[in-house]
Amino acid sequence: MAGGATASLQFLGAAGGVTGSKFLFSYGDDQLLIDCGLFQGLKELRQRNWAQVPIDLRHLRSVILTHAHIDHSGYLPRIVSKGFNGPVFATPGTCELLGVMLPDAAYLQEEEARYANQKGYSRHSPALPLYTVQDAETSLKLLRPTKVGESVEVMDGVFLDFSRVGHILGAGSARLSFEANGQKRTLLDSGDLGRCNRRILKDPEPAGMADWLLLESTYGNRMHAKDSEIELRNLIKETAEQRGCLVIPAFAIGRTQDLLYTIRKMEDEGEIPAIPVHVDSPMGLEATQIYGRHTDEHNFEMTRLHDKERCPISSRHMVIDKTPEQSKSINNLKGPLIIISASGMATGGRVLHHLKHRLPNSGTTVLLAGYQAEGTRGRLLQDGAKEVKLLGEVVPVRAKIKVLDGFSAHADQGEILRWLGTFKKPPRTTYIVHGEPPAASALADVIRERLKWKVEIPKYQQKVELT
Ligand SMILES: [Zn+2]
Repeated sequence: MAGGATASLQFLGAAGGVTGSKFLFSYGDDQLLIDCGLFQGLKELRQRNWAQVPIDLRHLRSVILTHAHIDHSGYLPRIVSKGFNGPVFATPGTCELLGVMLPDAAYLQEEEARYANQKGYSRHSPALPLYTVQDAETSLKLLRPTKVGESVEVMDGVFLDFSRVGHILGAGSARLSFEANGQKRTLLDSGDLGRCNRRILKDPEPAGMADWLLLESTYGNRMHAKDSEIELRNLIKETAEQRGCLVIPAFAIGRTQDLLYTIRKMEDEGEIPAIPVHVDSPMGLEATQIYGRHTDEHNFEMTRLHDKERCPISSRHMVIDKTPEQSKSINNLKGPLIIISASGMATGGRVLHHLKHRLPNSGTTVLLAGYQAEGTRGRLLQDGAKEVKLLGEVVPVRAKIKVLDGFSAHADQGEILRWLGTFKKPPRTTYIVHGEPPAASALADVIRERLKWKVEIPKYQQKVELT
């Protein structure tokens, strides 16, 4: 397009909150979506998943996914079920993880609908899933694996390249390059920013440059504790000594691998006794294998260990619980033991029945090792709830609840600022997204103060011209 078309951006998610990442980029008559995430947490947010698709799919040419987490990818089968069939660009690691995650998300949707129909609690009859396993399988066929650093045309006159950001396997920031008013322009979505010197994965790459920046702010008002490994070590030692049970709700992807890697390291170094670690997450196990395969993303230490025989992402007494029966039989086990199970914010998955069984017991410790979004059970526990509703029952909380945010896969305020320090010049505007309001505004303030950049916090559905 000579001189370039006019470009604009609309914030269809992760604006005013952390979930539902969806940024609609318009260029002339064409549109593309950067991330296609599900809303999670509060009911009023989740209802947005069910509303009419907020995009005219006739104009949507392609989708770009920064990483595989469901709050960035889980809405894709929904738009596919409504007729989208364009290409979906993501890194090879992300594509492989999506092959596990999207069918699983769809299965959960189908299960929920089946359960609602059985119990007759849906207002709709019959209750329908948000999308089906078939929709997820169709979505996977649209994936176009795109290597970090490779430049691809994602729609007429618009080029994409990913750079590595740590966070989880395959995670990238997405940069769009296009022409506007005869000038070459770039829009960069940070995606979820990871951290430096972490376990398993390489560090985030320097940002380079961008005319417009979308910046995540999950921990924009926080600094991570530095001694989380010491705390984990103490918790495991305590669990072993008191023959207790340590339940860790963990994202199947990222957190589960980080925890296993760290526990193995502590065992190797003789810091903790090797007690049984039940990994009760079929998806977590598949993801662990995918982590092992993508050697190009491994950091130095992981590469060194991986060359030896045993996979460094496994503890000594790791027990793999594949079937639902094996999962249930964990209920009969006495401590000491560790249960790592999804989901990470206790919104669903097998960890629910472990919590139902173990929360009333004072010999249990529940470790919340990741971000707990508003409206989730994990957040209620973190905030000190005395009882929680689980699988249709009110369950008293007598277990100890511990919070460890040092295992977070998100950069904290200092780490975000450090990444911004790698920009060659300030973006024209930085849009703060993917944070709850206090985090977003604290980060905006500190960027204005220290870097003197122009910063805005967009509202849900707000549209901005990129001129
Ligand atoms: Zn993420």
